[in-house]
Amino acid sequence: MATITKNKTPQRKCIGCNESKPKKELIRIVKTPEGEMLLDTSGRANGRGAYICRNADCLQKAIKTKGLNRAFKMNVDTDILVRLSEEMAELDKG
Ligand SMILES: [Zn+2]
Repeated sequence: MATITKNKTPQRKCIGCNESKPKKELIRIVKTPEGEMLLDTSGRANGRGAYICRNADCLQKAIKTKGLNRAFKMNVDTDILVRLSEEMAELDKG
């Protein structure tokens, strides 16, 4: 018998709190082919990505636990982390 699959929202794991959440509640941090890192607010940026909750707390957690470094398999520069934190704070405000 065919199983009925509901149209479930895909879940992704936040690299900060490690909880799986619907993709739309998360934001993608993208490393572009040029090596730039940004918050993918459009959801369409090219490159390697990691998902994180849309809040500054989870970003801080990801920085502290080196979740970002693990996700991108590199040491993310402090100035990049600072910029991402600022961008996230802006989003958090709404
Ligand atoms: Zn989170």
